[in-house]
Amino acid sequence: MNFGGNAALDLAAERAEQEREAGIAAASRSLRTPGTIECEDCPNDIPRERRIALPSATRCIVCQTKFEKARR
Ligand SMILES: [Zn+2]
Repeated sequence: MNFGGNAALDLAAERAEQEREAGIAAASRSLRTPGTIECEDCPNDIPRERRIALPSATRCIVCQTKFEKARR
């Protein structure tokens, strides 16, 4: 029996699988966050619930409120 060749194949297959999973993870990360995680006006993160309710949000609630008041 020759296990040497099979071991090399298994390693290559494993590496390809890891690369595939990394690609899927990166793709699903970008899908889950169409807006931004961090508020564009302050260093705070936009709360997860807000990003779910408004996926295009780029500001936290405080900054969005200020932004809307400033526009009026
Ligand atoms: Zn903010």
